[in-house]
Amino acid sequence: MVNSKELQSDQIAVVGIPFDKQSSYLRGPALAPVRIRESLSCDSANMWTENDIDLAAGGWQDVGDVTFLDDEKAFETIEATITALFQKTQRVISLGGDHSIAYPIMRAYAKAYPDLTILQLDAHPDLYDHLDGNRHSHACPFARIMEEKLAARMVQVGIRTITGHQREQAQRFGVEVHEMSAGPLPDLRLSGPVYLSLDMDCLDPAFAPGVSHFEPGGMSTREVLHIIQRLEGNLVGADLVEYNPQRDPNGMTGMVAAKLLKEILGRMIANKPMED
Ligand code: MN
Ligand code: MN
Repeated sequence: MVNSKELQSDQIAVVGIPFDKQSSYLRGPALAPVRIRESLSCDSANMWTENDIDLAAGGWQDVGDVTFLDDEKAFETIEATITALFQKTQRVISLGGDHSIAYPIMRAYAKAYPDLTILQLDAHPDLYDHLDGNRHSHACPFARIMEEKLAARMVQVGIRTITGHQREQAQRFGVEVHEMSAGPLPDLRLSGPVYLSLDMDCLDPAFAPGVSHFEPGGMSTREVLHIIQRLEGNLVGADLVEYNPQRDPNGMTGMVAAKLLKEILGRMIANKPMED
């Protein structure tokens, strides 16, 4: 159960969202929040970020996991949880869960940040109008988000599975898609409030095999860290989704997820990008 009693307005809330029932291929990401926490507190590493923030000194608070009493109302529960956290702090990091949770999270965010930019790191655009008739699949959240105009700007990086239909959807919604096939990353020129939606399969499976959908040809851990650390604009929230511990028997991808979480926290606590 989420406990935000002690949460201070200048702290970043970290909340677990153990929900994977909109996964199209494999279940497992519901187990992720507990495994990411274990990896984060593992004695094999310290709590300092690469931009010199000691996460053991505060600046953030783990408020626990969302409890789902009724799966039919899962999205309402997620939106209500994030909205309630906004009573305390305006900055939240959600640990998924499958990527479908981005839609209810963004419904809460759009109320607080009407001019939001979403940066999605993902192998997949997740822009399907529906997947096998399901409009709430983890393959669809950004179609719902753009239909409801929950973001002023939407940028995708890491994409390498786009279909003809999703290319049409991206055009229709004005989504800026940076495909892996295009070569080196362009300057993203982000500004204003920015929300980072980080699907673990943006990484090449060589770096992060603990995901449901292996999609070769992805980014390295260092490339993703570089994006996080150099991110311009005001990073006001993030989600870390699609880590599947059932595909991660030795916990290696869990450590990658914890590392990304650390650097997201470091970037948000410093409130400015690292310099070259
Ligand atoms: Mn995704
Ligand atoms: Mn994906």
